[in-house]
This record gives sequence, C-alpha cells and structure tokens, in this order.
Amino acid sequence: MTAPGRFITFEGIDGAGKSTHIEFVREQLARAGRAVVVTREPGGTPLGEQVRELVLRQPMSARTETLLMFAARSEHLEQVIRPALAQGRWVLCDRFTDATYAYQSGGRQLPAALVESLERWVHPDLQPDLTLLFDLDPSIAARRLAAARAADRFESEQADFFARVRAAYLARAAQHPDRFVVLDGAAAIDSIRRDIGARLAPWIAN
Ligand code: ADP
Repeated sequence: MTAPGRFITFEGIDGAGKSTHIEFVREQLARAGRAVVVTREPGGTPLGEQVRELVLRQPMSARTETLLMFAARSEHLEQVIRPALAQGRWVLCDRFTDATYAYQSGGRQLPAALVESLERWVHPDLQPDLTLLFDLDPSIAARRLAAARAADRFESEQADFFARVRAAYLARAAQHPDRFVVLDGAAAIDSIRRDIGARLAPWIAN
C-alpha cells in the first residue's frame, strides 16, 4: 500500500508571502523526490474557481460567503485533496479552513461555532499535517499589494478588518501549536526560506 501523503497548508493575509513560499516548498519537495500537488482555496477545482470569482467580486452576506467557502472546500476535498493524499502525494494548499476562521469568523465576525459545525460536517476526519502561518502587519501587506494588483472584495476591506483576521489566525496557531508554525512575514525572503527548510527537514526525512 502507498504511504499516505502529507497535507501542508499556507495561511496569512494577502501579501504575507504565501505564494512566494509555496513555490519554494514545492521545489524542496520535488528535489527530495516527493510527488507534489499545489492547489488553493477558494478554488482548486472548476467549481471552486467559479466560487472564487463569486466570493472575490460579488457582494454577499457573511453567512453566504462562509457556506460558499465550505461548498467549494467539499468539492476540493473530494476531487483533489483526498485522492492525492491517498496516492501518497504531498498536497500544498494556499489557504484552507483556518482561513475561514480568520476571515469569516475573525474578519466578518461570524460566530466561530458556525465555522466549527461546517468543519465537522465537511472534514471531520482530516486536518493539515502542518500549517505555515505567514504573520504580517496588515499595513506592510497593503504596501506590497498596492504595487502588485487591483484590490478584490477582501483586499478592499479596512485596516480593522485585517487586524481581526491577523488576530484570529494567531489565535488558531495558539490553539493548535502541534501543527502550526508561525513565520515572521516581514523577515527577508531568504531568512524565511531557511526557517521553512529547517521545519520541513524532519518531515522530508520521515
Ligand atoms: P500572498 O500569496 O500571501 O498574497 P505573495 O507571496 O504573493 O503573498 O507576496 C506578495 C508580494 O510581496 C509579492 O510581490 C512578493 O514578492 C512580496 N513578498 C513576499 N514575501 C516578502 C518578504 N518576506 N519580503 C519582501 N517582499 C515579500
């Protein structure tokens, strides 16, 4: 039987460095001979990518937004994440359920218990093996993004929204210290890479 793969999630506010470092991890794993799948949420399937367009552009209530996130996630788990893990692949996912706690509960202030009940319904038996949280002051993230792209529905939110998202992410990390690694997103890219490389080494060795 194939050894099950590993599920690594990348979390943090936009501009914190998730895409930059997911690419680095992909290269490290590929070099170590691991089969890797890189995916993202919302997204990762044709349905998920359509949901992504909706939630990034279309005005909607926080409740609708949360339900859509989990609808896309359910499809993503069935179509991509679970089959890949079963085949022994390493799944690198740009955001997962911790992001729903951070954005829809922290940012949009929906009760965390609602997110928790959807989490129990959609993936009662699966959590990431490792979650890399890129922690960054929202004002630094905003400066990075201003240069890069036009703002979507989330990126257009105000500073207090991002302060709540950041705090909710850090609270998740404190609740799940076994799987979270909090990285200083303001550090130099090389230094973050070294940090990630050191954290990954034991995983790759096993
Ligand atoms: P995310 O995927 O979290 O939105 P990105 O990886 O796309 O963030 O990074 C956003 C921008 O910030 C990019 O232009 C990237 O090159 C830059 N960036 C990422 N990490 C750092 C860092 N540690 N220091 C300086 N700039 C960074």
